[in-house]
Amino acid sequence: MQTQLFIDGRFVPALSGATLATLNPHDNSEIAQVSMAGREDVDRAVAAAKKAFPAWSAMAAADRGRLLLKLADAIEANADALARLESLDTGHPIRDTRNLDVPRTAATFRYFGGMADKVEGSVIPVEAGFLNYLTREPVGVVGQVVPWNFPLMFTSWKMAPALAAGNCVVMKPAELTPLSSLAIAALMAEVGFPAGVVNVLPGLGHVAGQYIAEHPEISKVAFTGSTAVGRKIVQASSGNLKKVQLELGGKGANIVYGDANLDAVVQGSAFGIFHNQGQACIAASRLIVHESIADDLLERFTSLARSIRIGDPLDPSTEMGPLTSQMHRDRVLSYVDVAREQGGRVLAGGKAPDAAALAKGCYVEPTIVQAKPTDRVAQEEVFGPFVTVSTFRTDEEALAIANGTEYGLGAGLWTRDLQRAHLVARQLRSGMVWINCYKRVSPASPFGGVGASGYGREMGFEVMREYTQPKSVWVNVDANIPPYYPR
Ligand code: NAP
Ligand code: MG
Repeated sequence: MQTQLFIDGRFVPALSGATLATLNPHDNSEIAQVSMAGREDVDRAVAAAKKAFPAWSAMAAADRGRLLLKLADAIEANADALARLESLDTGHPIRDTRNLDVPRTAATFRYFGGMADKVEGSVIPVEAGFLNYLTREPVGVVGQVVPWNFPLMFTSWKMAPALAAGNCVVMKPAELTPLSSLAIAALMAEVGFPAGVVNVLPGLGHVAGQYIAEHPEISKVAFTGSTAVGRKIVQASSGNLKKVQLELGGKGANIVYGDANLDAVVQGSAFGIFHNQGQACIAASRLIVHESIADDLLERFTSLARSIRIGDPLDPSTEMGPLTSQMHRDRVLSYVDVAREQGGRVLAGGKAPDAAALAKGCYVEPTIVQAKPTDRVAQEEVFGPFVTVSTFRTDEEALAIANGTEYGLGAGLWTRDLQRAHLVARQLRSGMVWINCYKRVSPASPFGGVGASGYGREMGFEVMREYTQPKSVWVNVDANIPPYYPR
């Protein structure tokens, strides 16, 4: 297990010697002490990245791609160990880390390994006699700050496209979950990434994170996290006018029309909100149900929620683990009181599980709360296994509720009516829409939001635009330039 900063191809302690414990949220026991980067360590990492940039960006794109492909293979070869480490540090059930997080991490590095040599420029038709072409160049040293909810996967989402495009990276994982990003750094060294191309700096948000956003020699900052910190990133980035990419919070609408297939709705909605203990920006956190089917659906949905097996993440039969920290668990549970104060009714959960074996951990039962669309619990991101339910009568009403928050990340709808499905998809104010499914993601499909959910897109060809700058080149091939200043 690596616990030190990864700078210039080596694991080194923080210059200050500072460390912080990372905990296992199953019982809050210490897993390891991890080095915490200070500003001086960020400076060292940026210097290493700057030094590595000329050779890395000039390397044949296919060769950069080949390293990413090798990394994907190495991740698969170490899948069991990576899944275990991720489950220990985050509390995610091992069946999810082994079957989803690790394969998706490998798939993302592989997709962008293949992408590296497919980012083309273009030739633009301009006036006769001139050739105008556009190339895409890497941005330079890129700073990346990620949260604790999918630390392994987000390491790949952030690093893979940046590296494929020829940038060098300084990444800060969340202080709660630094271990899997460091494990990826170790594999990168093993498969032969040149020193300095990638640097991983566990550290505190307001210290290392803030300085990455401010740093005058970092050309772009890509951030995934809360809307509040996103605003701070924008402000901190203004010094050198960094390019900014923001993947922020969400409050996913999940609309169920009267003609929906309820078996699919129940399964899909449970995955949408309870997978990863609901700690997902794209969680289906607002169930919006047509009144004609509400009783039937809620009976099935609450009974599924009550049947979910909560337990030790390392037990392969566990379906839901603990939240990732005690502080976050307390915050999620505090929303149960917030709901009740505004007249909300708890239909399932709303408390920590009773089992003595889980008493030391950060556990919360799957929670379903009936609430008005304007209640705080239906407006603010709870970021836990906590879903609000409200009903609607007309399609217009459903759309108004769905679009009625400051967020606009993911939204879903369930109907057998083809025309309605596409019309609503068009009208939803969100970066992603799922029809008769929820929370699908793929390295090939653009991911991101609008409004308070941020701007810019990860994944697919879109993200290659984020990690490159276009350059327009004019060539006089056969032009008679009019004499502006005749002599
Ligand atoms: P957070 O508090 O915003 O933290 C995210 C990252 O920013 C952490 O690494 C944190 O460091 C760092 N940070 C904190 N203060 C900073 C500052 N002043 N300057 C620079 N960096 C700073 O978010 P979180 O609670 O970890 O994560 C949950 C949030 O992330 C939710 O809102 C969720 O919706 C959002 N999210 C969005 C997406 C998306 O793609 N749209 C995906 C996943 C999660 P520390 O670890 O030291 O606090
Ligand atoms: Mg931890």
